[in-house]
Amino acid sequence: MKKIYFITGSQDLYGEDVLIQVEKDSREMAQFLNEKMAGLCEVVFTLVVKTSAEAEDICLKATSDKDCIGVITWMHTFSPAKMWIRGLQALKKPMLHLHTQYNEKLPYDSIDMDFMNLNQSAHGDREFGFICTRLGLKREVVAGYYRHENVIEQIRRFAHAALGADLCRGMRVAMFGNNMRDVAVTDGDRVESEIKYGWNVNYYAIGDLVKIIDTVTDAEVDAKMAEYAGKYDMDTDNVEAVREQAKYEVAIDRFIAKENIQAFTDTFQDLHGLRQLPGIAAQNVMTKGIGFGPEGDYKTAALGAVMQKMSEGRSGATGFMEDYTYDLTAGEELELGSHMLEVSPVFAASKPKIQVHHLGIGNREDPARLVFDGVSGEGIAVSMIDMGDRFRLVCAAIELVPQPQPMPKLPVARLMWKIKPSLPVGAAAWIYAGGAHHAVVSTALTANDIRLFAKMTDTELVVIDEKTDLNSFEQQLEMLDLMAKLK
Ligand code: MN
Repeated sequence: MKKIYFITGSQDLYGEDVLIQVEKDSREMAQFLNEKMAGLCEVVFTLVVKTSAEAEDICLKATSDKDCIGVITWMHTFSPAKMWIRGLQALKKPMLHLHTQYNEKLPYDSIDMDFMNLNQSAHGDREFGFICTRLGLKREVVAGYYRHENVIEQIRRFAHAALGADLCRGMRVAMFGNNMRDVAVTDGDRVESEIKYGWNVNYYAIGDLVKIIDTVTDAEVDAKMAEYAGKYDMDTDNVEAVREQAKYEVAIDRFIAKENIQAFTDTFQDLHGLRQLPGIAAQNVMTKGIGFGPEGDYKTAALGAVMQKMSEGRSGATGFMEDYTYDLTAGEELELGSHMLEVSPVFAASKPKIQVHHLGIGNREDPARLVFDGVSGEGIAVSMIDMGDRFRLVCAAIELVPQPQPMPKLPVARLMWKIKPSLPVGAAAWIYAGGAHHAVVSTALTANDIRLFAKMTDTELVVIDEKTDLNSFEQQLEMLDLMAKLK
């Protein structure tokens, strides 16, 4: 299991007894937080740092430990912060600075100078905070009593985001075919993606997959069909079309396992050797934590894998989505999101139906796909774009709503939502920000989770929510452009 290092700061001026107490308290606190992570990751107490050598050693160890996804730092006593400089310069893992105390309440009757010297994080954490700020260190500061539910919740949120950031390092993304011809927003700098996030994005010929498809056995297709039958309603007589997709999915599964792939893209412009565009095949793969981007959209595919990792163990759905069309009734504007086929069934409000319909694009046979209405609830839509000199995350708060009327002739899965604060403001802000028509939608994560991920990866983020005002939003965008030019 992945770990978070719990590192306590102190100094050696207080004498042995105090330091023993500092360590004892720290162990108890780390153990408490470890239990509260409940299988998400371990919180491991490391040591009480008293010297710059100890600070450097533990930060180097955290940085080099592949199982370490982040550190929690806390100053039980005062801890002169110059001794943290070399360590913090070496630290390349996300940091949560926990501004807390061992004691919740003040012992008013018995408090004396010994107590004050032992329990002075109000003092020591400010000194530590200064050096972090002076070093320009991106970190998350959580203030409050460590046993309080809201503090635990923030630490868990940090752990979820840290797991997402950790997945990035060395994550392999496969592109079957390339970016859709002439499309701008889905394209991007793959070298920079690997430098910044660790995403190893590589092209594969669709023929590489076709070779595997040709070796899929009837028994394997039967097993996949049984999986479909257990999860979905067969709503077509064209079983052969579904079996064709089942064959694709077996091949994709095998390819993903062999190449250690966490996300993939395809494109309808490159289907040589395939009789159908992958529909249910791609949809069912998405339910297994694999990110997907159509039309060669590797950024959305990778972001999808990351956000699915961040939402593991949380209720709600996370997956690829595309902005498609609107109901522009004044004051009740709704967006209809979908794709030509590839909507993840994690979004299904009821059991998805397997159907086969004509697809006018791609010039192939009618593909089998899952059709369903979408879930409702609060959510976010997140888009990653390449600004040329940096990546930007655009995160919009949305409310997924039940579709107001049936859409019996729409042959694809769909979601409907309201963007906040309203379509005239929210959609305009999205477009000013350059947000794509592809996004990852999640009802499991919030803008706060994306803020954390952006902080951990030093990615520019703009948030659109109920407080968004277009004038200040545009000014924020101008400020971000200016900041990027100064870097
Ligand atoms: Mn698309």
